[in-house]
Amino acid sequence: MTRIFSGVKPTGHLTLGNYLGAVRQWAEVDQHRADALFSVVDLHALTVDHDPGRVRRLSKQAATLLLASGLDPEACTVFVQSHVDEHARLSYLLECVATDGEMRRMIQYKEKSARERERGGSVRLSLLTYPVLMAADILAYGADEVPVGDDQTQHVELSRDLAVRFNQRYGHTFVVPRATPPAVAARVMDLQDPASKMGKSHDSGAGIVYLLDEPDVVRKKILRAVTDSGTEVEYDREAKPGVSNLLEILAACEGGNPEGLSGVYESYGALKRATAEAVVELLAPLQKRHKELVADPAYVEEVLRRGAERAREMAKPTVDAAYRAIGL
Ligand code: ADP
Repeated sequence: MTRIFSGVKPTGHLTLGNYLGAVRQWAEVDQHRADALFSVVDLHALTVDHDPGRVRRLSKQAATLLLASGLDPEACTVFVQSHVDEHARLSYLLECVATDGEMRRMIQYKEKSARERERGGSVRLSLLTYPVLMAADILAYGADEVPVGDDQTQHVELSRDLAVRFNQRYGHTFVVPRATPPAVAARVMDLQDPASKMGKSHDSGAGIVYLLDEPDVVRKKILRAVTDSGTEVEYDREAKPGVSNLLEILAACEGGNPEGLSGVYESYGALKRATAEAVVELLAPLQKRHKELVADPAYVEEVLRRGAERAREMAKPTVDAAYRAIGL
């Protein structure tokens, strides 16, 4: 059976980008067709300045939102990364296979380290090595597929390279994984800045729809989205990035494709109103279920405890094999 691994970082509140680019596909498709593991990857949240209490709260919230989004603990494994030691154990071995040059070429590292330096902060070594830990997350489970948004495909490529290199040097140990981004909304952009992706750890919340935003907040954010010059509602990511982003979001909500929506709306205003209502409708069941789950924290704890147990059982044999193969 196909094995799938993917995760979310608890560095902020989950966004519409996380949902459309990743989580929805996990819930609607992946968990039903494969042996799937989904993790709140909290170790990755430590690569930038963080507040310990906040990371813990956000991890719990992210796990609750994954369940609210429809991940079914009977159908897949949901767990918190730091509850399973195998990730860190394997990460070190992979650091001995990766090179500093390939780490420094990672686009996210370049962008995030530049931002950190601009702020006058120092760059943590873990920000550089984070893609290796991500490779460990994936390779420990022998995942064949990694459903992620476009922003993560370069990191999955690195995981492939490290798996192949390790196997060549030390004997076949790892399955070589591949990224499987969604067909639509693989890159949802910030509503106020369509040149950058809608990211949960970005500073401004005005262009970001969070999964727990109230309907009126969602409407306000989408109605105030930046659009482009001209008046025609056409899908053209180069010439009309703002409008195309809205079309992409709307198409993803409705299960269609954005090209098919070109020319359907007579004005930017009409497109925004339709998109706002589609997003409100999309989020309503998820928010309702989230409320129910928040009222039952013991249930969420138990899901995560069982999830970690199952994940550990799956990862340990592969990580032990890697230790033996490398000569330890
Ligand atoms: P973030 O950038 O919000 O911190 P994570 O690293 O936690 O995101 O990613 C969780 C999943 O959500 C990944 O599969 C990632 O590719 C996807 N994702 C994140 N932001 C977006 C976006 N704006 N559009 C589409 N997918 C996204």
